[in-house]
Amino acid sequence: MTSAGTDLLRERLQKRLDELRAEVRAASLRDASEAEAVVREAHDRGDEASAEIQLGIGDAELVRDLHELREVEAALQRMARGTYGQCEDCGQEIGEARLAAHPAARRCAACQAAQERRRPR
Ligand SMILES: [Zn+2]
Repeated sequence: MTSAGTDLLRERLQKRLDELRAEVRAASLRDASEAEAVVREAHDRGDEASAEIQLGIGDAELVRDLHELREVEAALQRMARGTYGQCEDCGQEIGEARLAAHPAARRCAACQAAQERRRPR
C-alpha cells in the first residue's frame, strides 16, 4: 500500500465516520448513547446479533450504523498504529483492491470468507 493510497482511504474513512455519526444522531438522538453502549459491548463479544435483539427490530438500522462506525474507527486506529492493511488473522497484506472496496476491512478475502463460514450472518 502506497502512502498516497492510504491517505485517500483515510479521507474516505473519515468522511464515512462523519456520515455515520450524523445518521446515528438523526436516527435516535435519545437512544443513541444507550444503543452505542449495547453495540460496543456486543461488538467486544463478537456478537452483533444479540445487540439487534436487545435493541429491537426497529433499531436494526441504527445497530448496523453503530457497528460500521466501530469498524471505521478501528480502521482509523490501525492507520494511526501503522498496522492498517494487514489481515488480523493471517498477517498478510489485505490488498489494495479489497481495501478500495472495503476501506474498513480487517481481514484478507480468504480469512473473511473463512470467518463467515464459521459464523454465518
Ligand atoms: Zn488473512
